[in-house]
Amino acid sequence: MGDQAAPAKHQMTEPLPAAARADVDALFESGELFRYGVEGDSPVTRLERTFAEAVGAPFALAVNSCSSALFLSLKALGLEPGARVIIPAFTFAAVPSAVIHADCVPVLVETGPDLRLDLDDFTRKFDDSIDAVLISHMRGHISDMDAIKAACDARGVPLIEDAAHALGATWRGRQSGLVGRVGCFSFQSHKLLNAGEGGILVTADEDIIAQTILLSGAYEHNWTKHPVVSDRFAYWQNRLPHYNMRMNNLSAAVVLPQVAEIPRRVAEGRARYGQVAAILSRAPWFDVPRALPHEHRAPDSIQFGLVGFEHDDQVRDFIARAAARGVKLDVFGLSADNARAFWNWKFLPEQAELPKTRALLMRSCDLRLPPRMNAEELDVLGDVIVAAAAEVMAGR
Ligand SMILES: *Cc1c(COP(=O)(O)O)cnc(C)c1O
Repeated sequence: MGDQAAPAKHQMTEPLPAAARADVDALFESGELFRYGVEGDSPVTRLERTFAEAVGAPFALAVNSCSSALFLSLKALGLEPGARVIIPAFTFAAVPSAVIHADCVPVLVETGPDLRLDLDDFTRKFDDSIDAVLISHMRGHISDMDAIKAACDARGVPLIEDAAHALGATWRGRQSGLVGRVGCFSFQSHKLLNAGEGGILVTADEDIIAQTILLSGAYEHNWTKHPVVSDRFAYWQNRLPHYNMRMNNLSAAVVLPQVAEIPRRVAEGRARYGQVAAILSRAPWFDVPRALPHEHRAPDSIQFGLVGFEHDDQVRDFIARAAARGVKLDVFGLSADNARAFWNWKFLPEQAELPKTRALLMRSCDLRLPPRMNAEELDVLGDVIVAAAAEVMAGR
């Protein structure tokens, strides 16, 4: 009796900060989970203010997922149905899904060997038919935002950043997600901040914040409860549909005290990554992508390419040998129905072939580095991966 199972060492999440309990208890007392049901600042409003300050953005809107944040951002751009939106071919299925949800057509661009947008293919596909660009910092790898922003500005095309997995990662010293007109983040449990489900968008654009607040479901005059002063609300009043993608107070109360933990979580993630990257980099069989000059990453996982593995069977053998020693590796292109492999997005209106991205995903490994893993375990993890590759390559 009373025996609690010890938390699994390798589970993906940290405990929630005890500081969340005061707000959560108050919500139990009041029962008011609706963000607009509260007099004064609700936990959702406080989260928006705290998050905006932490990342250095003028405005923030918390919603029920990053997917919703991406959808609302696209809607606020006023794109016509059928508008063409560039996205990277290496991203999570949520990204093309949000584009389709917004009645737009995703145009997939190849990924380079460093897991970032292939700028040649980007330039080739960025013709007059393109109405918006949505860049996903997949697994926290930031593409060359200087080049992407310059190309968008030159054509007067809006840029949205999916920074769902890049909180704490910076470009030129600023939080990622602040280069584009809108930046979107996720609070899904396996991201840096954990609300179970949730997301937030940030922007410096008064028109975008006014529209997204109304679109998210601030019906009637609930927008007056946002600390945003803009005549754009009066303009958009009653002209936009309400999609009801609001965040509730309980999710906000849980995530609010985690914002102060961003620097610690980022520092620890970088240390875990550095340790495993160093072990893998000493072996000849792995290519660990390097950060771009203006990028400072905030990794919670490691991705690496397999070098000299000519056949898929060798890769499968490698995965099996690592698994036999307790290390579960994913190769994006080899696990069945992987949501990050573009050929599994059968819901797309246009199926494109992207040979570079396909080849990359067939040889790119993905491995979580969970916060609860200590230095000793991380060493073992790295050694197991090296040993598994050594065995496969010895039997070549
Ligand atoms: C998690 C994630 C999303 C989706 O976030 P949700 O909050 O689950 O909608 C989108 N893009 C990337 C890169 C992600 O990692």
